[in-house]
Amino acid sequence: MAEDLIITISGMRGIVGDNLTDSVAVDYGSAFGTYLKKKHAGKKEKLSVCIGRDSRASGAMLKAAVTAGLCAVGVDVVDLGVVTTPGVGIMVRELGCSGGVVITASHNPIQYNGIKLLLGNGVAPPVEAAGQIKKCFFDKKFAFADSPHCGQVSSNEETDAVHIAKVLKVVDKKAIAGKKFKVVLDSVNGAGGRVTKKILGELGCNVVAINDRPTGIFAHRPEPTAKNLKGLCEAVKKESAEIGFGQDPDADRLAIVDEKGGYIGEEYSVVLAAKQILGQRSGKVATNLSTSRMLDHVAKGAGAEVVRTAVGEANVAGAMLEHNCIIGGEGNGGVIDLRVGPVRDSLVGIALVLQLMAESGKTVSQLVDEIGGYYMSKTKFVADESQALQILDSAKKVFADAKLDTTDGCRFDFDDGWLHLRASNTEPVMRLIVEASDKITANKYIDAVSNIRREVIG
Ligand code: MG
Repeated sequence: MAEDLIITISGMRGIVGDNLTDSVAVDYGSAFGTYLKKKHAGKKEKLSVCIGRDSRASGAMLKAAVTAGLCAVGVDVVDLGVVTTPGVGIMVRELGCSGGVVITASHNPIQYNGIKLLLGNGVAPPVEAAGQIKKCFFDKKFAFADSPHCGQVSSNEETDAVHIAKVLKVVDKKAIAGKKFKVVLDSVNGAGGRVTKKILGELGCNVVAINDRPTGIFAHRPEPTAKNLKGLCEAVKKESAEIGFGQDPDADRLAIVDEKGGYIGEEYSVVLAAKQILGQRSGKVATNLSTSRMLDHVAKGAGAEVVRTAVGEANVAGAMLEHNCIIGGEGNGGVIDLRVGPVRDSLVGIALVLQLMAESGKTVSQLVDEIGGYYMSKTKFVADESQALQILDSAKKVFADAKLDTTDGCRFDFDDGWLHLRASNTEPVMRLIVEASDKITANKYIDAVSNIRREVIG
């Protein structure tokens, strides 16, 4: 059954009690530990890995199983408890661990859970390393330790404090606190509620928190989309709040609701954060090929270069480290500021947006109007590997006049918009992202891709 598990560079994801069980998690822990031992061969001190989990009920079982797998191969484990994914990314570096593990299925529904791996730099393993871990997991050739050398377990409760201190360093706490913003926070009963309420308190906000208990019983479908955040929109209106923040269960994604109770879309999270940063400092910006042109628009206004990468947090974080970018992230609400850590972090997104509101004196809807918008469509359709290749080949012919980027599938840039067509890493589907100045133009590109799809698939 383990073949059905989704294993990518950032870890594994499956259905608890079906293809994701305690024994799968033990083996995955041992595979990760075996990989780390090989990577750090010759190092005298014992290796350590920190581990945290989101609020899902299955998290305790999976955390214990991964911990056992790591200890069995002689790796010490630091248990961080129920914390956010960015929290673990920050603690890996803070504690000087050789790796980190987050037990989370992010925005997937409650029946799912997952095991996300981080290396000592706080970033997911590169493709080659991920391949070695996966091979070790399936081959089951683990470097077991003898009894005296088994790993030991300790706990650490500092994640919230360390995370908050790092985020507060990148904003003007006094300036934000002076505004006494009224904020509604929806943490979907995931891992984000506790630490986010604390930082909003530190920033002098009047916080109305909904779904803030880490029960793991999600109050609504957990992906922070418009459809799922209706309750947050209502609460912002009812409370006459100035802004609403929605998080996913592991709090790496951030969605924003304006002062009128309107969901502005996750694409704006990184754009608003970039607008704040670029207003203060000069440097490069990094994002993936599927993220809105609004980011280029904001960067252009500040004379900044945008580095585009393949889709995936590790690719964006890697490019940020390589190009020393001052801000980056993904259009799914993932904001990355390297001063805090090379991970998507809703907390730093929240702080930067509040900072922008404080220093501009503008409301969220005014800031959004100022940036201007595009029409964006994100869809997917079934296509196997060979169909996906044929579709990409045809698209290259049909859109021969466009500027083409083949870093990850094909991205075609036109004067009035762009489209990104790529095969998914996790399922036999192709994803199509189209952005244009208006809906009619976007539909023109969507229809052209539909025609190609019909010709290839029938
Ligand atoms: Mg997430």
